[in-house]
Amino acid sequence: MLIHHTCPNCGADMNFNSETGMLSCDSCGHNHSVEQLEDIKLTQTFEQDDAREYHCENCGAVVVTDKDTTATSCSFCGGAVILVDRLSGELAPVQVIPFTISKEEAMQAFKKWCRNGRLTPKGFMTANRVKNITGMYVPFWMYDLNNDVEVHAKATKVRTYTSGEYQVTETSHYDVYRKLDIDYAKVPVDASEKLDDQIMDKLEPYNYNDLKPFKTAYLAGYLAEKYNYNDEQLYPRVKNKVKSYIDNYITSTINGYTSVQYHQKNINTKQKHSYYVLLPIWMIYYDLEKQEHNFLMNAQTGKIVGKPPVSMQKVSLWFLGLFSSSFIVLKIIALLLGGALW
Ligand SMILES: [Zn+2]
Ligand SMILES: [Zn+2]
Repeated sequence: MLIHHTCPNCGADMNFNSETGMLSCDSCGHNHSVEQLEDIKLTQTFEQDDAREYHCENCGAVVVTDKDTTATSCSFCGGAVILVDRLSGELAPVQVIPFTISKEEAMQAFKKWCRNGRLTPKGFMTANRVKNITGMYVPFWMYDLNNDVEVHAKATKVRTYTSGEYQVTETSHYDVYRKLDIDYAKVPVDASEKLDDQIMDKLEPYNYNDLKPFKTAYLAGYLAEKYNYNDEQLYPRVKNKVKSYIDNYITSTINGYTSVQYHQKNINTKQKHSYYVLLPIWMIYYDLEKQEHNFLMNAQTGKIVGKPPVSMQKVSLWFLGLFSSSFIVLKIIALLLGGALW
């Protein structure tokens, strides 16, 4: 089932406006607060159909969707459509972080990012490289977790001093015990099979204080997808994710020793709560040397993931020009090629 958010003044389709945070009509300029909007009841389950084709209510054209799509636009009239049967019942998101970065701002950030890559091929920006720019809501599960941690370790402190003609090394041994009760709230794990998990992890963090109760109007004008994995299926991933936080935390509580050797570390993670949320990203596909690359941006904070396009010809010129100090060259090239730009 498709729904449109139409303008009460003129009947045109309305889109979410990332600058005002309101639903706005491009035709007559009417704005409407999303929070106060009467939304369709998503707790009820609409009959799920696996149809991939719908008819746009505005123009009658066929809207073709992927099986996971929950919001898209009619490719004929551009009207925003929301597939409500894929957003209701157990597929109903609880919260959403709305877009705060507009398409124009994402495009500007992309251009700037390309210029920052100093080895960007000549003419890269003048050619029409950008194949597609898409604002998309990615499905995530958020977990609140409690962790019972018990650690036993052997530690040493080594002291060296001179006594008369002798140099004395004194080693003290300690038994270290820690019992910790650690809570983590709102740990996100991406639930879409299409996007690379590591890339999504790099787009974090979002500012989770801005999570809003979900309304379909936030999706108007963007692409959105439903989750492919439920919270139970992703639980091993979130456990693994917090394990590294816990390890760091344990280390931070044991300091001042010369060496620490753990011989027992029990972590008992319990799930207190999990809920389904949608988080916004901008994706830009561009091509270079006949290959598609992508640029991803956190559409709330502006954080960028990707590597600027690199011209191998320019890299070799750099090598020749700075041959005499090759160590520095390698270092600079390593910096330009990646690492430091993340
Ligand atoms: Zn209007
Ligand atoms: Zn249409």
